[in-house]
Amino acid sequence: MSRRRARGTTVGTAYADQAAAAVADAERVAARAAERAGVTGRPGAGTAVVVRLLRELNARAMFGLPTCGHLPASPAVGWWVAWSPDRMRCAACAYAVLAATRGTREDRRCDGCGRVVELIWPGIAQAGPVVIGLGLCDDCEAGR
Ligand SMILES: [Zn+2]
Ligand SMILES: [Zn+2]
Repeated sequence: MSRRRARGTTVGTAYADQAAAAVADAERVAARAAERAGVTGRPGAGTAVVVRLLRELNARAMFGLPTCGHLPASPAVGWWVAWSPDRMRCAACAYAVLAATRGTREDRRCDGCGRVVELIWPGIAQAGPVVIGLGLCDDCEAGR
């Protein structure tokens, strides 16, 4: 009995270590992606929208968010694209969504208010092991 419990604890610790590593990875990945996307927004820009998106992500995750099929079963960095929120994706699949959207009308739709505008500010947010890609209009980016 005590042995079984001890083994369970070991598994739990390994999982926690992997989860912590995934969160650290997500921080690095998000910072790099933000740099590459030329995210120049002020710190805290679009915070209200990000908070709302996180609520949506939580709700979707609660009911079992499908994945692209490439994410490992162990804790790893997942990508969630705000304008294609039906699944959690690996980096390659997230970039494929990005590439498919580029130049389309959807590319100019704000993930905050849903308006199609001339200029969209690309944004990257990070929550735990999840990197969130989003695009915001001037108003939402400024938190107006
Ligand atoms: Zn994938
Ligand atoms: Zn907006």
